[in-house]
Amino acid sequence: MAIYNPASLKAEEFINHEEIEATLAYAEANKNNVELIDRILEKARPVRNEKGCTCAGLTHREASVLLACEIPEKIARMYEIAEEIKLAFYGNRIVLFAPLYLSNYCVNGCVYCPYHAKNRHIPRKKLTQEEVRAEVIALQDMGHKRLAIEAGEDPKNNPIEYILECIHTIYGVHHKNGDIRRVNVNIAATTVENYRKLKEAGIGTYILFQETYHKKSYEQLHPTGPKHDYDYHTEAMDRAMEGGIDDVGLGVLFGLEMYKYEFAGLLMHAEHLEAVHGVGPHTISVPRVKRADDIDPDMFDNGIDDETFTKIAACIRLAVPYTGMIISTRESEQVRQRMLQVGISQVSGASRTSVGGYTEKERPTDTEQFDVSDQRTLDEVVSWLMDSGHIPSFCTACYRAGRTGDRFMSLCKSGQIQNCCHPNALMTLAEYLEDYASPETKEKGYAMIARELDNIPSENVRRVAEENIQAIRSSNRRDFRF
Ligand code: SAM
Repeated sequence: MAIYNPASLKAEEFINHEEIEATLAYAEANKNNVELIDRILEKARPVRNEKGCTCAGLTHREASVLLACEIPEKIARMYEIAEEIKLAFYGNRIVLFAPLYLSNYCVNGCVYCPYHAKNRHIPRKKLTQEEVRAEVIALQDMGHKRLAIEAGEDPKNNPIEYILECIHTIYGVHHKNGDIRRVNVNIAATTVENYRKLKEAGIGTYILFQETYHKKSYEQLHPTGPKHDYDYHTEAMDRAMEGGIDDVGLGVLFGLEMYKYEFAGLLMHAEHLEAVHGVGPHTISVPRVKRADDIDPDMFDNGIDDETFTKIAACIRLAVPYTGMIISTRESEQVRQRMLQVGISQVSGASRTSVGGYTEKERPTDTEQFDVSDQRTLDEVVSWLMDSGHIPSFCTACYRAGRTGDRFMSLCKSGQIQNCCHPNALMTLAEYLEDYASPETKEKGYAMIARELDNIPSENVRRVAEENIQAIRSSNRRDFRF
């Protein structure tokens, strides 16, 4: 039997089945232990000091107790603290991005994904570089600055050279005032050497969803192809770090396995990254299984309702306070609205989950990876965010200024975010308003910018931000950042 060790590099030791089972039993035994729950909630609260604000975070055991607790007023308290943490470290900014599907060729057999190799009727497509350029122009014309590229796993059709070429093409497109300034990458687990190549190509975050932390289920859900290897998949982030990528994004595909098991596994993975590399995950995504081509989510027994989903997000927020949290257009406007209040810091907007989808007028469904619930335009999403007091941010400054890994986390902890991320959000919002927004959104946006400039603590930073925004409005000068 493997012994639990967060600092180990072996999957079965840092995601240890026995430790997860013991955690679930501990959580179940303590779910009504009000004294313990109050102590855990107190530990999770942000504490302000002369250097800014700090948060202790929670261990996977502590957070699992909160997740198991069903006492309404304690759950309400979790939500309040989650929002406090979000405001303390990420303010009222929400970063926007879009996925870009490069290829749906895939040799794996993932039973929840319509791109699985046995799906013979789904049209297979792989973008040429000309098509990548056309997709990027369409994305830039909407106002996007940050992409997450997606591809199936197929060494023949989508080798690493193809992915690298696409990244190069994407960064090279400058249409009107458009620019893609950060390319995050969501491709299958690969070698240290390939991660090094991705790092050299200038990627932002390397994202890889674990899908499920339950090894036995994992092997059944991935019956064929290289992704079947649980250990290789689970140890991928360590190889990515070894290859020099220090911003990695975790995620679980909720609905496949029991959520409490996944939640404990996810936090153990975050603790492992902290223990081995000194920095936790840059982001955590919370996708749920959706309907798609030959996939019916009801095939899986572990679907979770919206309330449980919200509680999971809030508990993640409490446990890993400095990690960005992402919600995609898999979720409806209503669910996304609720999730924004409990800690989400990034959302996708106007996504097309099909290969070549952005250049098609009608939403193409034939190669979609999953049904998109939120089908609003980017302008509508930007306007909606502002209506609920959030600043839509197109900022990509940190990674371009070398603030990755623990350097980003230090900025986050220092409280200087308000003098850095806040003005960057306002300046990139001004770019969006000037170049892409509808007249109503533009008016709403500039009113928000005028109000929010007052929330920049440093007088000097505020003055420079004002001058830059003026330059954006009166000229074609772009891409200012702190
Ligand atoms: N092929 C790469 C891999 O295996 O990691 C890239 C990932 S795939 C393009 C992106 C993610 O979509 C998957 O990791 C999975 O979690 C998610 N996904 C697949 N099928 C889905 C479905 N039916 N509903 C929701 N999300 C799905």
